[in-house]
Amino acid sequence: MEFDVAVLGGGPAGYTAAIRAAQLGARVACIEKESELGGTCVRVGCIPTKAWVQTAHALHAAREIDPKLGVIVADPRLDFAQANEWKAGVVKQMTGGVASLFKANGVTALEGVGTFENANTIVFEQGDLAVTFEQGIIATGSYPILPPIPGIESPRCVDSTGLLAQTEVPERLVVLGGGIIGCEFASIFERFGTEVTIVEMLDSLIPQEDADATSELRKAFARRGIVVHLGKQCTQVDDTGSGLVVHFGEGETVECDLMLVSVGRAPLVEGVGLEAAGVDFDPKAGIRTDGRRRTSVPHLYAAGDVAGYWQLAHTSFREGEVAAENATGHEVEVGDPAVPRPIYTDPEIAGVGLTEAQAREQHGDGVAVGRFPWVANARAVMSGEANGWVKTIHETTYGELLGVVIVGPHATDLIEAAVVALDAESTVETIADGMAAHPTLGEGLKIAGQVALERAIDLPPRRRA
Ligand code: FAD
Repeated sequence: MEFDVAVLGGGPAGYTAAIRAAQLGARVACIEKESELGGTCVRVGCIPTKAWVQTAHALHAAREIDPKLGVIVADPRLDFAQANEWKAGVVKQMTGGVASLFKANGVTALEGVGTFENANTIVFEQGDLAVTFEQGIIATGSYPILPPIPGIESPRCVDSTGLLAQTEVPERLVVLGGGIIGCEFASIFERFGTEVTIVEMLDSLIPQEDADATSELRKAFARRGIVVHLGKQCTQVDDTGSGLVVHFGEGETVECDLMLVSVGRAPLVEGVGLEAAGVDFDPKAGIRTDGRRRTSVPHLYAAGDVAGYWQLAHTSFREGEVAAENATGHEVEVGDPAVPRPIYTDPEIAGVGLTEAQAREQHGDGVAVGRFPWVANARAVMSGEANGWVKTIHETTYGELLGVVIVGPHATDLIEAAVVALDAESTVETIADGMAAHPTLGEGLKIAGQVALERAIDLPPRRRA
């Protein structure tokens, strides 16, 4: 089988690259080892977790928000079997969507484990079928890291895929690793009625995020009864037959029924035949590429988690597009776009650009911040969810916006306005002087900008940041 472009991996990076290359006129094959397309994101990542996030939010709303608004739902409770059916249905619709897009764009989908035999051939299906190609795009993604902790091989220690496959809600869950994935699952399962304990080696939850935002999360988790142990390493896990005893810190223990191991993901570079293709890679950092996503072999490109710093679906989408455009004779770079950082906990968090600490590190005293609390926003108040705030961060020489952080309702949707503003190199005045529809949550960004400029109409002067 001969193709202009072969893509290895059918996740966000791979399926985007395949479709984009086909749009540009190439004959494209995409080799994917799973029976469904969509990769980690669609099958066992972004999509199923957020389906559960919706269930968790609906449950919370029925119990604690709707009654305030005058809607009484008798005895709201979780039907976990139905929640799982809903999750599976959402995933099916999305994986089917990718398959239909392949068909509509004339991309040939090939199922099987693919391995490079050389820089122009990928063999797949136990090595008895081969695809030859002129240009190749590697998009094999990443896998969850299993730390070397005695006892962690117990079947009660699961990764995110294992947790998503549960058919019973565990009574007690330990989450090992307080990063984004760990915090999202902690948030979901507490709403599902589980007793949740997070054990994190570092001194903060989600340490890469803005410190004010993660401290809000920590406070919210404390209010909800989620126990968080920071700066404590897990040293051993004992399977008692009916549960686990997790050892951490200096002789501390916690008992649970299930432990989620979410300590990070590593690029999937082993067993792909990268050596046979001559592609340079590092087992930890993944495949090295330039800004055009070109590897050490000029006609081979790499995109997504296998070659990425961010490990996000939307960075993978863009890298896939860029790889495909270069593979079909165009000259495009990913550049340095604003990358939104969505976190689907309750409260939601979303950031883009610099955190406040990064801005102060880079610009010293020439940084100003505006913080607008949702409690002063009519739409947030009427929806019964007014915890959190919007924060703008700008430098004071030209007023250029450096970053935005949002904590609270719909933060992950609202951040898009800030992404566009940062990509357009907007000033804080652009944010503050533009109009936002009223009454909306969208007004939060504008008013945070006004707070930064010390001229907010909606806050009394003493409350300005
Ligand atoms: P993948 O999605 O991993 O796809 C790689 C594909 O390659 C897979 O389908 C794999 O089967 C296939 N493959 C690998 N090797 C071979 C081979 N040799 N032959 C054939 N096929 C092969 N990101 C967000 O932006 N937002 C979120 O809300 C979010 N939530 C997440 C929640 C969880 C629980 C997890 C685990 C991840 C989440 N992510 C999220 C991250 C996101 O899923 C990844 O960044 C994204 O899937 C990376 O896309 P990719 O195409 O590089 O890799």
